[in-house]
Amino acid sequence: MGRGKFEYLSEKNGEWWLTEDEHGDLKLSYRIKDIIFDQMSDFQHVMIVDSYNFGKMLVLDGIVQTTSKDGHIYNEMITHVPLSIHPDPKRVLIIGGGDCGAAREAAKYEHVEQIDMVEIDELVVKACKKYLPEVSGNLSDPRVNFVYEDGVEFVRNKEKEYDVIIVDSSDPIGPAEVLFEKSFYQSLHHALKDDGLMVCQSQSPIFHDNIMKQTYQRIHDVFGKASMYTAVVPTYPGGLWSFTIGTKQYMNPAPEKVQGKETSYVNAEIIQSCFTLPEFVKNSL
Ligand code: SAM
Repeated sequence: MGRGKFEYLSEKNGEWWLTEDEHGDLKLSYRIKDIIFDQMSDFQHVMIVDSYNFGKMLVLDGIVQTTSKDGHIYNEMITHVPLSIHPDPKRVLIIGGGDCGAAREAAKYEHVEQIDMVEIDELVVKACKKYLPEVSGNLSDPRVNFVYEDGVEFVRNKEKEYDVIIVDSSDPIGPAEVLFEKSFYQSLHHALKDDGLMVCQSQSPIFHDNIMKQTYQRIHDVFGKASMYTAVVPTYPGGLWSFTIGTKQYMNPAPEKVQGKETSYVNAEIIQSCFTLPEFVKNSL
């Protein structure tokens, strides 16, 4: 492979490893078979690698974003939960989500009329459509409208346009840092219709409890109503992952809405139970 220029790629005894560095305190290493795609965009280093345990992985600046083995867990949870809370979502906005997995799941709702997908980095979408169809589904649904722009700029002047907004961001470093700011949640509030709701990934309750708590509090401050749910995503540090909902009206999911959606993780029982939080998470909110 010969990719010694990035510290997160290394060779030892003929084996190649990708090592994700979690802010210097924790390192997660994956043995990889091959680098399938590798290019610098204007925003980040975009790679798709083939790994031994997780199949193909999207890696941005050395951080694993999604994989063909466990990507469905995250993408189904960030999409089906909000879409089962809103009784009649017609216009959906996805911010980030370049692997297209969330858009693919949203497109399973036939009454959804438009899915705007605002991703800052076109290269991520191109690479995932071509080399990671296990996650992207090589999405070509005409209701999906791809916009390549900073999500913060895109929503800044939107007023009551969307039923559901899904913030499928990378970690709060680099281009995604702004997607965790209170002013961004205020813009989302304006962009949502009077009964709209939003969801975002709010990081690990184990390793990023300060970010999780701050995200929940900011969203609660802006919307007045918030709730949190969790799922276990093996390739995210600590496994346990949190999602935060901010809503103007609806709070309760209708679990039967996921029936017949050809999911491989989410089902009605999971939609119902995912809001049951561990004691330490409840206490930290
Ligand atoms: N599921 C993944 C996770 O939690 O690690 C993240 C999925 S997706 C790949 C995240 C996407 O957010 C990336 O493709 C990145 O380019 C995009 N992104 C980061 N900052 C952004 C911004 N300000 N506006 C729009 N998209 C952004």
